[in-house]
Amino acid sequence: MTFPPSAVQSLRIPTFDDVRAAQARLSGMAHRTPVLTSRTANTRSGATLYFKAENLQRAGAFKFRGAYNAIAALEAGVRKNGVVAYSSGNHAQAIAYAAMLQGVPATIVMPHDAPEIKVAATKGYGAEIVFYDRYNENREEIAGRLATKRGASLIPPYDHPDVIAGQGTAALELIEEVGEIDMLVVPLGGGGLLAGCALAAKALSPGCAILGVEPEAGNDGQQSLRKGEVVHIPVPKSIADGALSTHVGYHNFPILQDKVGGISTVSDAQLVDTMRFFAERMKIIVEPTGCLAAAAVLQGAVPCEGKRVGIILSGGNVDLKVFAALMADA
Ligand SMILES: *Cc1c(COP(=O)(O)O)cnc(C)c1O
Repeated sequence: MTFPPSAVQSLRIPTFDDVRAAQARLSGMAHRTPVLTSRTANTRSGATLYFKAENLQRAGAFKFRGAYNAIAALEAGVRKNGVVAYSSGNHAQAIAYAAMLQGVPATIVMPHDAPEIKVAATKGYGAEIVFYDRYNENREEIAGRLATKRGASLIPPYDHPDVIAGQGTAALELIEEVGEIDMLVVPLGGGGLLAGCALAAKALSPGCAILGVEPEAGNDGQQSLRKGEVVHIPVPKSIADGALSTHVGYHNFPILQDKVGGISTVSDAQLVDTMRFFAERMKIIVEPTGCLAAAAVLQGAVPCEGKRVGIILSGGNVDLKVFAALMADA
């Protein structure tokens, strides 16, 4: 796939100032989530670990930050026409919730076979749902057409400057709370969270190494950094359902190239072990995708002996039946 040059020219790459602006917009709206520590985790890794618990964020994931910021950043005249998003996961719920809080109409394009619980949650936030057939229809086209017809703003899950800036406030808060760190480890899907957090960490803790972690089955981010261009892969198969993107965003990639020191991968089995660790030892539910960064550190994929390490736990939305089945098998 080639990327249209006109679109490349219009890229607005966010900076740390945008993360600061997002912090002001999110003040009093997003939860300032706790930073958790665990002696067992420290002993196991030989490091001092700081877990930023975005599983406890509003709507259950960091996505609320980017969604709220992107809607708040729209001009008033545009904002009243509403927002459109396509997703069956955390971004859709974050957009629906953030739009409701700002009195903005939201339309979410979802596959017709999306889990009932997610459909109900999205409706509960007052969003209109437009269903599509995931085998025969293209959701981006449908969402784009809807947005054009209504004069509404399409807010993509990661390839957007205000989404990236909003996600960066997670790392901003973490470092403001614990001080400078040696390393920051972040889950990686399309790269909104990693790019935003890299902007914040390099500004506030310049010596900090930034690492992304993606599912072993879908290492497009790793391939992209090696090759020096955005690499597209087929939809990967992993239980990390929040990181099944086929390529990183074009707004994210220049930031990743500039600031990210490396990308590791973990297996599904390692994610399940890590979910169990959080439930058993730290009494928290973290969804499979939310465990990516922690799994890499706790299972030794990232050497961090003696270091102060920030870890983003990105979300906690997992169907309890799925959670129970994964724990029973582990
Ligand atoms: C979306 C998501 C990610 C990946 O974020 P990107 O910005 O796409 O890299 C990681 N964890 C959870 C829980 C998510 O919902």
